[in-house]
Amino acid sequence: ERGRLARLRHKPAVTLDGQRVDLLANIELPEDTLGAVKAGAVGVGLFRSEFLFMGREAQSLTRLPDEEEQYQAYKRAVEGMQGMPVTIRTIDVGADKPLDGKSVRDDAHLNPALGLRAIRWSLADPAMFLTQVRAILRAAAHGEIHLLIPMLAHASEIRQTLALIDFARAELDNRGMVHGHVKLGAMIEVPAAALTLRIFLKHFDFLSIGTNDLIQYTLAIDRADESVAHLYDPAHPAVLRLVAETIAECRRQGKGVSVCGEMAGDIAFTRLLLGMGLRSFSMHPSQILAVKQEVLRADTSKLTRWVEQVLESDDPASLLLPAPAPQ
Ligand code: PEP
Ligand code: MG
Repeated sequence: ERGRLARLRHKPAVTLDGQRVDLLANIELPEDTLGAVKAGAVGVGLFRSEFLFMGREAQSLTRLPDEEEQYQAYKRAVEGMQGMPVTIRTIDVGADKPLDGKSVRDDAHLNPALGLRAIRWSLADPAMFLTQVRAILRAAAHGEIHLLIPMLAHASEIRQTLALIDFARAELDNRGMVHGHVKLGAMIEVPAAALTLRIFLKHFDFLSIGTNDLIQYTLAIDRADESVAHLYDPAHPAVLRLVAETIAECRRQGKGVSVCGEMAGDIAFTRLLLGMGLRSFSMHPSQILAVKQEVLRADTSKLTRWVEQVLESDDPASLLLPAPAPQ
């Protein structure tokens, strides 16, 4: 099976009815671009930049990475992808991702998944956020970078975030420093965001659906709590509806849309997402070839009725049959 999949590496991901599909990589560090290119990724759909900030105590680095260190890291990622686009998500710490070895799961933060994390953390520490945005804008002079903002839910957060990005650009101009253009994207991972897409599409060039958190927040299931793991259901009808509507609305408005949560790398969902209209999937590099095989076997022109049935079903999982084996 491995050997057979390996032969798909250089084959473009195109469905039986000729639909081109972008299979992108999720990475944690610039060095991961090597594995992404090897796996045949056509870009990075999610660079979880918080990994540059985490675990530094263990490396006896006591300060957070400064602008220069971050710039070098983002530049390495861009160079590693050899001209393909790199989507860099701004820092997403808090909740299950402690910063600097300090757990945020303490008495002061009783419910960290609902607390200060991701863009909320960044807006509470604008100096840190500006440093990161300047580094990303500078790296964009070396290749195509898409800037992705995690966990937005409020119009006010969108306004503050965009104002800070403008400010970072102005700071670089004032310093006379070279920087590049970036496409701006928002993660859709809070149900409130999926239900107010109009606001997001007014301000952003593309959206990326973070199903890991979208499931957690839609179903009120802590993604890190083993005792309720059996209720963490990617195929819950409410989750599928939010995903389907987000993809459909982006397509109606001609905006890019991607899924970068685990669902994108799970072959049980490939045909469903294709049928919903998704043409951009971002996943761990190790999943790319298996998903590509599903793409090559799919005929999106024949999926419409089945997708409707799945979305109307009380038990969608029972309809997500595995793809037929090759002849
Ligand atoms: C997600 O929430 O689906 C996602 C991709 O982000 P993370 O897993 O890093 O929270
Ligand atoms: Mg997330």
